[in-house]
Amino acid sequence: MLYRNAVSCAVYLVISFVSIACLSRPYTAPYTRPEPESPPPPATELAGGGGDEPRFDIWRDNPEDFYALVGGEPRPGDPLTLIFLPSSGAEPERYTALKAVLRGTNGKRLGGASFFDWTLDDEGHKLKACVFAAPSTYDGGEALVTVEGAWGVLAEFGLKLKERTFTSEEIPLNPRNTALRTVPDPKKTAESEHLWAIITRTGDTVYTAGPFTPPVPADTRRTGRFGDRRVYRYSNGGSDVSVHAGIDYGVPAGTPVRACGAGRVALARGRIVTGNSIVIEHLPGLYSIYYHLDQIIVEEGALVNEGDTIGLSGVTGLATGPHLHWELRTAAENTDPDALCDRVILDSSAAKKLVNERGEQIYAELSW
Ligand SMILES: [Zn+2]
Repeated sequence: MLYRNAVSCAVYLVISFVSIACLSRPYTAPYTRPEPESPPPPATELAGGGGDEPRFDIWRDNPEDFYALVGGEPRPGDPLTLIFLPSSGAEPERYTALKAVLRGTNGKRLGGASFFDWTLDDEGHKLKACVFAAPSTYDGGEALVTVEGAWGVLAEFGLKLKERTFTSEEIPLNPRNTALRTVPDPKKTAESEHLWAIITRTGDTVYTAGPFTPPVPADTRRTGRFGDRRVYRYSNGGSDVSVHAGIDYGVPAGTPVRACGAGRVALARGRIVTGNSIVIEHLPGLYSIYYHLDQIIVEEGALVNEGDTIGLSGVTGLATGPHLHWELRTAAENTDPDALCDRVILDSSAAKKLVNERGEQIYAELSW
């Protein structure tokens, strides 16, 4: 009976897609905790599959507490979706300030995100979910995901990140572009802090569950790839290294730029380094970004649908020619746009399938 009365719940980790990153950002001191005394137990398959059926693995951590469902083996830059399913006897206080944290084997924090409420159906059944990404700068290998709440670590499970190679390129900058990157300017700092404050925010609205559609036709020529390792050669002889956070499309100025998914415009204004810029919030912690526009058509706060024209491409800010820079941020981490175009981010049909496999008893208690 004790067992039955114990708080129990289930965590499903659905790993989706692919990855990368670039803008410098404030470094958050990692939360350090001792190495686990024993390695996480191996994944156990819950819902097999094949063909078009979604395939998931379920990780059993503490049998009374959590299960994690995983939809694949992520590469650096791939998004991950973690779904938390409370079970009978769940005490809501136990799950306050709930977040997932991804760490390397050395304990260093690699990423993570806060959970948000995800309404599964019209009857008001709710899960908790979070979306985060494996950083594109991580070499791959073993990693650990922990679920943490106000009461401490609630669950943990191992991940193996696939290795992934990215291309390198050198970009010579003229004096104007060199100055844009190198000359200190309080306004640039303020703009960076403002953008960081936006993309680190976890809202509470799911405007779309994905997948996304590229902002220009998908077969448009790409002049920059996600995760490119870039060396900027300055006109004054110096250089700097960065990782390209998104995709560059080589479109002529004036090309319509469309919202990649439904959302709310979180930023629409000129910025020194990125020119005319738009940021759209799509679901809690997930943002799309569009840079170097010639014109901005939407206003901050506006709601947009997938495919709405939000601006015209251009060459404003630090650009060596007309192009559109399109970037996706998941819990502030650069995420491979192609991965987010490949599949849904919050798969309600898969979640319902899982819930059904766990039994109606659980499902009936999901509206807490
Ligand atoms: Zn770019």
